[in-house]
Amino acid sequence: METEILWGKELARKTIERVAQEVAALQARAGRPPGLAVILVGKDPASQIYVSHKERACKQAGIRSLSRRLPATTSMEEMLALIHRLNGDEKVDGILVQLPLPPHLDPSSIIEAIDPTKDVDGFHPLNMGKLALGEEGMVPCTPKGVMALLDHYGIPVEGREVVVVGASNIVGKPLSLLLVNRMATVSVCHIKTRDISLYTSKAEILFTATGVAHLIKREMVARGAVVFDIGISRMGDKIVGDADFHGLQGWAKAITPVPGGVGPMTVAMLMVNTLEAYKKRLEMVP
Ligand code: NAD
Repeated sequence: METEILWGKELARKTIERVAQEVAALQARAGRPPGLAVILVGKDPASQIYVSHKERACKQAGIRSLSRRLPATTSMEEMLALIHRLNGDEKVDGILVQLPLPPHLDPSSIIEAIDPTKDVDGFHPLNMGKLALGEEGMVPCTPKGVMALLDHYGIPVEGREVVVVGASNIVGKPLSLLLVNRMATVSVCHIKTRDISLYTSKAEILFTATGVAHLIKREMVARGAVVFDIGISRMGDKIVGDADFHGLQGWAKAITPVPGGVGPMTVAMLMVNTLEAYKKRLEMVP
């Protein structure tokens, strides 16, 4: 069996191009481009790379990027004051706080302070609650990118046995909810699951987001399963996913590569969410 590689790079590029076209068409009427404020606190090297990717995507999409790079000593009061200012700024459609934050800053209170209509990461309790209710307001970018890849490659999930390994608030949980909303039969595994292979080996579609390099080996995967690898970790000087990509060749029906699979879709979905927030804001202006 030849394993199909489910690339995300090209789809992400096309998605950003589509956003750019829509932005160009709307801008004349709106009198301004969409605005995205990304707040980065401190100098975490991975976060700096992610923020620069987001800025580059904004440029490609015609979105005005309003990044704020703040020192690691920024206080809770300063963060909340900045968010209140951005909430009230009519030129800002999206606000994103790059995680992780330094330990003295409480991410929950900061995210709760963001206007839910500007919460382009979809992490605000209101947006998470909507997702749980199947209403899907602003959907978190990585799970939304996974769903876009499923649709692009014509992989149906309704009625399928699917397994999500990883249950974080930013990936595993929202992804599980999106899959339940699409009528998949979902099992969720995490660090306390006694034997994840009991579950992974039954999955028709396996999603993994743990950050444990090569956790998912061939013997844990059903022959002919589809594997979505969301994990990103370093192995020596290489970036790898949660799945043993080479070991699964000729065994899985299809697999997303790391890098080049789900990763680029995350940034593309941030552009889509910012465009959606912009369109909603334009509707509110008389
Ligand atoms: P996290 O650390 O918050 O959560 C990890 C989850 O995996 C937890 O639920 C934990 O219980 C589970 N887990 C950890 N080790 C496990 C094990 N041995 N067996 C079973 N479950 C285990 O991480 P996160 O923020 O959800 O990110 C997960 C991975 O996805 C990371 O590698 C991260 O870099 C990557 N990520 C990728 C993108 C992207 O755009 N592709 C976006 C966000 C996160």
